[in-house]
Amino acid sequence: MLCPQCQHDESKVVDSRTVARDGSIRRRRECLSCGNRFTTYEYIMKQPLLVVKKDGRRVEYDRDHIVRSIQIAANKRPVSAEAILDAVSDVHRQIEELGKGEVASKHIGDLVMAKLKEMDEIAYIRFASVYRAFEDLGAFEAEIEQLRE
Ligand SMILES: [Zn+2]
Repeated sequence: MLCPQCQHDESKVVDSRTVARDGSIRRRRECLSCGNRFTTYEYIMKQPLLVVKKDGRRVEYDRDHIVRSIQIAANKRPVSAEAILDAVSDVHRQIEELGKGEVASKHIGDLVMAKLKEMDEIAYIRFASVYRAFEDLGAFEAEIEQLRE
């Protein structure tokens, strides 16, 4: 923590208190070089997000995995790399807004499908066929039929 006055990197804490419900801590510090007093805030990093798979296993949330699966679904479709990253950002934000430490893989799949449906129908169908794991070919065909209408 650099002193804002002299850039010295050592300071001592003269006062600490919790200020907010999010657990952030406000500290008054005193520079060990020039004696300047300044204030810092510490925030707790959000807990890591776990994805609950269909079989109940939990794996660490992997944003890149979502990007890759959309890239595969959108292969050779008129969907830009930027649009894919935007979609993943949207999905990520929606997951964060749930405010939970865990999210079902099915829920992530649903969010991605909703995005793809707006972006490109073929990419959507490809993704859905893998992610939703259509119970049988009939369900898959019904979905395609619904899109045609
Ligand atoms: Zn200083």
